[in-house]
Amino acid sequence: MSVLIFIDQADGHVKKASYEVLSYGAKVAEQLGTSAEGVVLGAVQGDLSALGKYGVKKIHHVASDALNHFDAQVFTNVIAQVAQAAGSKVIIFSNNVDGKAIAPRLAARLKAGLVPGAVGLPETANGFTVKKNVFSGKAFANVTINSDIKIISLNPNSYQVVEGTGTAEVAPFSATVAAPKVKIKAVNKASGEVPLSEAEVVVSGGRGLKGPDNWGLIENLAHVLGAATACSRPVADEHWRPHHEHVGQTGLTIAPNLYIAVGISGAIQHLAGVNRSKVIVVINKDPEAPFFKAADYGIVGDAFDVLPKITEAVKKLKG
Ligand code: FAD
Repeated sequence: MSVLIFIDQADGHVKKASYEVLSYGAKVAEQLGTSAEGVVLGAVQGDLSALGKYGVKKIHHVASDALNHFDAQVFTNVIAQVAQAAGSKVIIFSNNVDGKAIAPRLAARLKAGLVPGAVGLPETANGFTVKKNVFSGKAFANVTINSDIKIISLNPNSYQVVEGTGTAEVAPFSATVAAPKVKIKAVNKASGEVPLSEAEVVVSGGRGLKGPDNWGLIENLAHVLGAATACSRPVADEHWRPHHEHVGQTGLTIAPNLYIAVGISGAIQHLAGVNRSKVIVVINKDPEAPFFKAADYGIVGDAFDVLPKITEAVKKLKG
């Protein structure tokens, strides 16, 4: 019986969310008096054994070329094989795009109970109860999993990354890898300079920007800050920006260190995707905009005046 943690990667680089789930999974394993193991699919750059510093003792590596592109069904199938071979009773994902695609499929496959969107460590003294967000983050629910195998997906930025000094044993795992049903011909990368789901800083625009021609103001600030760009849903619906930039309940959930919201009112559906950001800065010309209630810093002003000034100020600071 072990705790298995899915180590998510993109283009051979371990994603930042994986460090958080590794630390979380190691703590869950400690609570259960067992060991934490990781699973990595596809080719990865760097030394996987170094991930032992986050508390995992062993990493199962399935290095098939067929796993270099994400495919939820193929990945689910392979992780199920690893989990069965390792005798994993608790399996942990980040509640990011990949985790959201795999965890429910794996739960169906392994007849496991699933709590998506966990926000804290499970209560294990008497059963196995996981705290999660409900109603777009407005309330919490404590959900008890009674099945033999338990699956949790952890909301990004819910658990502090803990770095120690250990190294992990890297064990190549030979799995049966099915050919993906969908063949990827080409991948169109997001136009922003930094991938949105991984970004530490995000500059996001809403309908207050008035139209796509004004997006240069958002992009200029993002450029000087080394940030990714995002938008509210109406902006994507109006085709001012591509849909992969839309954040919120029906879009991406992000958790950057800094989220700058410009001309966005702060509807609950938008907040659901960004309210785990460490620091939120809101720029809005309406002092009554609801977003100010969720903001750490607020600027009441016209985006068309404020954005160029902040961009120039950051440029000067950077010399
Ligand atoms: P608006 O509500 O029109 O707000 C524009 C803001 O810009 C206003 O606060 C205004 O004061 C300000 N402004 C105007 N001009 C300026 C200026 N010159 N300078 C500075 N500020 C200015 N929305 C999402 O974003 N993501 C989702 O995932 C999402 N999912 C949804 C799911 C459902 C089921 C439903 C019903 C809705 C969903 N929505 C979502 C829509 C959401 O309810 C809001 O309608 C939307 O977030 C509003 O977008 P906005 O803030 O850009 O536009």
